[in-house]
Amino acid sequence: MDHNNSETKDTLVQILSPQRLRGKVAVITGGARGIGAATARVFAENGAHVVIADILNEVGTSLAESIGGRYVRCDVSKEEEVESAVKVAVEWKGRLDIMFNNAGIAGFGGSITNIKMDQMMTLLAINLHGVVHGKRGGTIICSSSSAAIMGGLASHSYTMSKEAILGLARSTACELGVHGIRVNCISPHGVPSEMLVSEFQKFLGNTELRPNEVGSIVGERGSLLRGRGGRLEDVAQAVLFLASDESGFVTGHNLVIDGGYTSAFSQMS
Ligand code: NAD
Repeated sequence: MDHNNSETKDTLVQILSPQRLRGKVAVITGGARGIGAATARVFAENGAHVVIADILNEVGTSLAESIGGRYVRCDVSKEEEVESAVKVAVEWKGRLDIMFNNAGIAGFGGSITNIKMDQMMTLLAINLHGVVHGKRGGTIICSSSSAAIMGGLASHSYTMSKEAILGLARSTACELGVHGIRVNCISPHGVPSEMLVSEFQKFLGNTELRPNEVGSIVGERGSLLRGRGGRLEDVAQAVLFLASDESGFVTGHNLVIDGGYTSAFSQMS
């Protein structure tokens, strides 16, 4: 193919399949599975170079290979490991444009009277410190949760960590805006990832429960959109918007992705 044809082909690809993150470099913590993995795929489809930072080496490496990205082992509760993940991106492509602080754990449920400080600190180290350590990149997106808005019985420590992330993101947005760095949060609800399925299995005492069944339960009881549960891709597309230049004037914002759950049920109380 000669030069002109190749340019024409590039232009056609761009028109037919616009790559909203073309050439941008992203680190996704917790990118090996669930919401992080779905986002890694969507980012790559949109032309981004993706570094997956996780503790699941096998699945993380295989996903990275399949999307032409990189995998780095990174426990987000350890600042130096998050720094190493950023270093991988910078050494690979010379910069970092997008930091998606997505890694998280659901944590230890139970009554407030039984809360264990060591378990709470472990959860905070991953969910909250992981986000603190990830304050890098031109656009930062942090994973909060509908739990930060509605509370929830899953885990008090989880709710606390996700509420703290909203505050941290707002104050960081104030500090970094002057440098042109945007900081936003997402708050998903009821998306059948491994984490949610295992929480539902524990909650309902049914280890046979499958992701599609969890999706149906959430669709029936936890969404205004009847029969429509949330999907990993719903969250990935919202993250894509916050990562892209199309959201260039959006910062300090919490984008709720919940099929209407939080607005519907907060009106009822
Ligand atoms: P998931 O369990 O499928 O994925 C979480 C990923 O984080 C996994 O790949 C896991 O290995 C990784 N991880 C866990 N601890 C880590 C650590 N210390 N260092 C690095 N990586 C680590 O769950 P998910 O539902 O995809 O969750 C992603 C994020 O979305 C979490 O922050 C979660 O709290 C948030 N969230 C999810 C939902 C939902 O409905 N699924 C709702 C609200 C918020």
